[in-house]
Amino acid sequence: MVPPWFTVEGGVTHLVGTRCTACRTVYFPPQQGFCRNPHCEGEAMEETRLSRRGTVWSYTNACYAPPEPFVAAQPYTPVTLAAVELADEGIIVLGQVAGLTVEQLEVGMELELTHGPLADGPLVWMWGAAS
Ligand SMILES: [Zn+2]
Repeated sequence: MVPPWFTVEGGVTHLVGTRCTACRTVYFPPQQGFCRNPHCEGEAMEETRLSRRGTVWSYTNACYAPPEPFVAAQPYTPVTLAAVELADEGIIVLGQVAGLTVEQLEVGMELELTHGPLADGPLVWMWGAAS
Protein backbone atom coordinates (compact mmCIF):
# COMPACT_ATOMS: atom_id res chain seq x y z
CA MET A 1 0.00 0.00 0.00
CA VAL A 2 1.29 3.48 -0.86
CA PRO A 3 1.54 5.66 2.28
CA PRO A 4 0.03 9.16 2.36
CA TRP A 5 2.40 11.85 1.07
CA PHE A 6 2.59 13.69 4.38
CA THR A 7 1.66 13.59 8.03
CA VAL A 8 1.19 16.28 10.69
CA GLU A 9 2.10 15.29 14.24
CA GLY A 10 1.88 17.79 17.08
CA GLY A 11 1.74 20.62 14.55
CA VAL A 12 4.93 19.44 12.82
CA THR A 13 4.68 18.48 9.15
CA HIS A 14 6.61 15.54 7.69
CA LEU A 15 6.79 14.40 4.07
CA VAL A 16 6.54 10.64 3.73
CA GLY A 17 8.40 8.94 0.92
CA THR A 18 9.63 5.45 0.28
CA ARG A 19 13.18 4.08 0.28
CA CYS A 20 14.44 1.06 -1.64
CA THR A 21 15.64 -1.48 0.94
CA ALA A 22 18.40 -2.63 -1.43
CA CYS A 23 20.07 0.56 -2.75
CA ARG A 24 18.56 3.15 -0.32
CA THR A 25 17.25 5.38 -3.15
CA VAL A 26 14.48 7.65 -1.85
CA TYR A 27 11.26 8.27 -3.81
CA PHE A 28 8.79 11.09 -3.38
CA PRO A 29 5.88 10.86 -4.01
CA PRO A 30 6.09 7.44 -2.34
CA GLN A 31 6.08 4.48 -4.67
CA GLN A 32 5.75 0.76 -4.29
CA GLY A 33 6.99 -2.12 -6.41
CA PHE A 34 10.30 -2.32 -8.21
CA CYS A 35 13.12 0.19 -7.77
CA ARG A 36 13.58 2.62 -10.69
CA ASN A 37 17.36 2.74 -10.21
CA PRO A 38 18.62 0.95 -13.37
CA HIS A 39 21.53 -0.54 -11.38
CA CYS A 40 19.28 -2.02 -8.70
CA GLU A 41 17.05 -5.08 -8.74
CA GLY A 42 15.35 -4.21 -5.46
CA GLU A 43 11.63 -4.84 -5.19
CA ALA A 44 10.93 -3.81 -1.61
CA MET A 45 10.21 -0.28 -0.43
CA GLU A 46 10.02 0.96 3.13
CA GLU A 47 8.28 4.11 4.34
CA THR A 48 10.65 6.94 5.24
CA ARG A 49 10.28 10.51 6.46
CA LEU A 50 12.09 13.11 4.39
CA SER A 51 14.22 16.00 5.62
CA ARG A 52 12.05 18.88 6.85
CA ARG A 53 14.41 21.51 5.43
CA GLY A 54 15.86 22.04 2.01
CA THR A 55 17.24 24.74 -0.25
CA VAL A 56 15.43 26.50 -3.09
CA TRP A 57 16.52 25.04 -6.43
CA SER A 58 14.01 27.02 -8.49
CA TYR A 59 10.73 28.87 -7.99
CA THR A 60 7.88 30.55 -9.81
CA ASN A 61 4.36 31.76 -9.29
CA ALA A 62 1.16 30.42 -10.79
CA CYS A 63 -0.82 33.43 -12.03
CA TYR A 64 -3.58 31.29 -13.56
CA ALA A 65 -5.76 28.90 -11.62
CA PRO A 66 -4.92 25.24 -12.31
CA PRO A 67 -7.69 23.26 -14.05
CA GLU A 68 -10.30 21.27 -12.13
CA PRO A 69 -10.36 19.22 -9.97
CA PHE A 70 -8.17 21.86 -8.28
CA VAL A 71 -10.43 24.18 -6.30
CA ALA A 72 -9.05 27.71 -6.58
CA ALA A 73 -9.82 30.62 -4.28
CA GLN A 74 -12.41 33.07 -5.70
CA PRO A 75 -11.17 35.54 -6.78
CA TYR A 76 -8.05 33.61 -7.73
CA THR A 77 -4.92 34.60 -5.84
CA PRO A 78 -1.60 33.66 -7.47
CA VAL A 79 0.29 30.98 -5.53
CA THR A 80 4.05 30.64 -5.17
CA LEU A 81 5.70 27.33 -6.09
CA ALA A 82 9.21 26.21 -5.16
CA ALA A 83 11.37 23.26 -6.16
CA VAL A 84 13.32 22.47 -3.02
CA GLU A 85 16.43 20.31 -2.96
CA LEU A 86 16.78 17.86 -0.10
CA ALA A 87 20.51 17.23 0.23
CA ASP A 88 20.35 14.01 2.28
CA GLU A 89 17.88 12.34 -0.08
CA GLY A 90 19.33 13.77 -3.30
CA ILE A 91 15.90 14.71 -4.63
CA ILE A 92 13.99 17.89 -5.49
CA VAL A 93 10.45 18.29 -4.17
CA LEU A 94 8.06 20.72 -5.89
CA GLY A 95 5.44 22.28 -3.66
CA GLN A 96 3.33 25.31 -2.90
CA VAL A 97 4.94 27.99 -0.73
CA ALA A 98 3.07 29.48 2.24
CA GLY A 99 3.63 33.07 3.28
CA LEU A 100 6.32 34.02 0.74
CA THR A 101 6.10 35.66 -2.68
CA VAL A 102 8.48 35.13 -5.60
CA GLU A 103 10.02 38.52 -4.76
CA GLN A 104 11.03 37.11 -1.36
CA LEU A 105 12.53 33.86 -2.68
CA GLU A 106 16.00 33.27 -4.04
CA VAL A 107 17.87 30.22 -5.22
CA GLY A 108 19.81 28.63 -2.37
CA MET A 109 17.70 30.00 0.47
CA GLU A 110 16.55 27.54 3.08
CA LEU A 111 12.87 26.60 3.39
CA GLU A 112 11.17 24.47 5.98
CA LEU A 113 8.17 22.20 5.70
CA THR A 114 4.89 23.54 7.02
CA HIS A 115 1.22 23.07 6.21
CA GLY A 116 -1.80 25.15 5.39
CA PRO A 117 -5.33 24.93 4.04
CA LEU A 118 -6.24 24.84 0.36
CA ALA A 119 -9.00 27.16 -0.90
CA ASP A 120 -11.60 24.40 -0.41
CA GLY A 121 -10.46 23.53 3.09
CA PRO A 122 -8.22 20.46 3.18
CA LEU A 123 -4.87 20.79 4.90
CA VAL A 124 -1.83 20.17 2.72
CA TRP A 125 1.93 20.33 3.17
CA MET A 126 3.67 23.46 1.88
CA TRP A 127 7.11 24.99 1.94
CA GLY A 128 7.51 27.94 4.30
CA ALA A 129 10.17 30.27 5.67
CA ALA A 130 12.79 28.46 7.74
CA SER A 131 12.44 29.34 11.40
ZN1 LIG B 1 17.01 0.16 -5.36
